[in-house]
Amino acid sequence: MKNAGRRKAKTAVWVTPLLLLLAGCAQDAESIMGKSPLGATVAQELGGYRFHNTNSLRNVQGYAIESGNLAEPLKGRIDGSLVVVTDKDGAITAIIDRPGRRGALFVDKTGSRRFVEEPAYDYLKADTLKERAGPAQVPGADKPDKPDNDGQIDALMLFSTKALAVLNADPVAFALAQLETSNLGLRNSQVGGVSLRLAGVRVTETDLPVDGTGLVKVRDMLTPLRPVYKHDINVGYFDNSPYGGMAYVPGSASVNSIHHPLAFRHEVGHNVGGNHCNETGADNYRFGYQTSGGAHTMLCGNNIPYYSNPQVTYGGRPLGNARTADMARLWREEAGRMSGYSPAFEGTRLIYVSTQPESSAIVAFIPGRSRIGVVALSSEVGPTSLTYGGPGVTTLTAKLTGKDGVARSVNLRAMRQNSGCPRTTMNSTLVCHPDFDGGPVQLIIGYSALDNPELPPGWYNGTVTLEARNDSDPNWRAPILVSLAVLR
Ligand SMILES: [Zn+2]
Repeated sequence: MKNAGRRKAKTAVWVTPLLLLLAGCAQDAESIMGKSPLGATVAQELGGYRFHNTNSLRNVQGYAIESGNLAEPLKGRIDGSLVVVTDKDGAITAIIDRPGRRGALFVDKTGSRRFVEEPAYDYLKADTLKERAGPAQVPGADKPDKPDNDGQIDALMLFSTKALAVLNADPVAFALAQLETSNLGLRNSQVGGVSLRLAGVRVTETDLPVDGTGLVKVRDMLTPLRPVYKHDINVGYFDNSPYGGMAYVPGSASVNSIHHPLAFRHEVGHNVGGNHCNETGADNYRFGYQTSGGAHTMLCGNNIPYYSNPQVTYGGRPLGNARTADMARLWREEAGRMSGYSPAFEGTRLIYVSTQPESSAIVAFIPGRSRIGVVALSSEVGPTSLTYGGPGVTTLTAKLTGKDGVARSVNLRAMRQNSGCPRTTMNSTLVCHPDFDGGPVQLIIGYSALDNPELPPGWYNGTVTLEARNDSDPNWRAPILVSLAVLR
C-alpha cells in the first residue's frame, strides 16, 4: 500500500510536464502556480504592497520563474511589479518596481542579500535608431508564404565581463528575469500567444557603450549567429551606460544598461515598433499611454507593468486609445516578425555559463522503463551511439570562439541522470530502479580548466547540438541545443 501511494503521488507531479512536452512546449515546462509561496527575503522589499502572482513556472533547467503585480493596499491599484527567479539551490534574482523601490534584489543560496537600486532615469529620452531596410535584417521576409514563427520570441543575450562584475550573480537567472518583465507586461495587456524566451547567453570582454554605436555593434555581432543559436532578437548588457537602453524601432536588437533592470521591457517595445507618448494626438496607435493620474505604460514613461491597450482598464479608465495608443495591437500584429527571424527550435535548450560549476536540463519525460541517453551528432564532438555503460563522465569537445575570433576546441564534461539514479556517462541507457521509471532524464554539462590545459585564458562562446535517443524506440529523437559561454 505504501509503495502504491508513493507512486501515485509521483505521477501527479510529473503529469503536467509530460503533457507540455508532448505538446511541443519543452521550454515552458511545469506550472508551479500556488506551490511556491513568496520568500520572506523578497516579501520584505514590498513595502506593504500586495503581490498578485500571475505566473509561476519551473523551466527545464530547474529555474522557478514567478511574476505578478504589486497592488497598493487600500484601493488595490496596480502600482508596480515583481519578477522572481529562483534557481535549484534557492538563490534568488528578483526585479522589483514599486513607488520608492526600483531595482534588482539578489539573494544567494546562503541567504545573503543585496539590493541594487536602478538610478533615476527619464525613459522619455530619445533612445532609438531606425533599422536598415532590406531582407538581410528580416530573414523571415525572404519566405513570407511559409511562416516559421510561433509567437515565441527567442532572445540571445550578450553580457560584457564588466556587466557580469556589476551583476555578481547568475546571468542566466538575470536573463530569465529580464524576459519575464516583458512577458508580465504582455499578460497584463491581454496580448495572448506572444512570449519571450531565452535562447542563449554569450559573454564578451568588450564593454560596449549603451548608446547608438553600441547598438549597431551588438546587431552586427549577434545577427550572423542566428543559424547557430536559432534566435530572434539580439540583446546586449553593458556597464558603460550613457543611456538606460537603446533600441532599433522597429527591429530586433537592443542594448541595455546592467544598472537599469527595468529598461529591457521598454526597449523591446521599440523593437516591436512602438514610440514613446503620442503627444500630438496623431493618427498612429504605435505609442505608449499615460493617465492623468501619473501612470505611464512601458513605452510612455515606464512606471507601470503594462503596454498600452484601450481594452484594458486602469483606475476605472482605458489604458490606451484605439487611434493614438494601442501597443497591444502592435504586439499582436508584429508577433510574426518578432518570432520569425529564425525558425522555431523544436527541442530542449540548455544554457551553460562558467559563472556556475555546471548546468542541467531535463531532456525527456517518457513513460515506462525507457532507456534514454544523449549522443553527439559527430564523433569529433563526442560519442554518437548509446551504450549500456554506467558511471563516469563523457568528454564533449565543442568548437568555441575566443576574443580573437578564432574557434578552438574546448573540452566539457557531460553526464546524464535518470530521476534519482546515480549519474552516468551522457550516452548511457542504464536505469537503476523501477520506482524511477517515467521520471525525468537530465543532461548535465560542466567545465573544468583541468580538461583544457592548452587553452589560452579568456571567454569562449558557441553552441553544440546533441540528441536524446531511446534504445527501445529507434525512431524517437529529441534535439538539444546547448549554449556555452566558458571562461578559461
Ligand atoms: Zn525609449
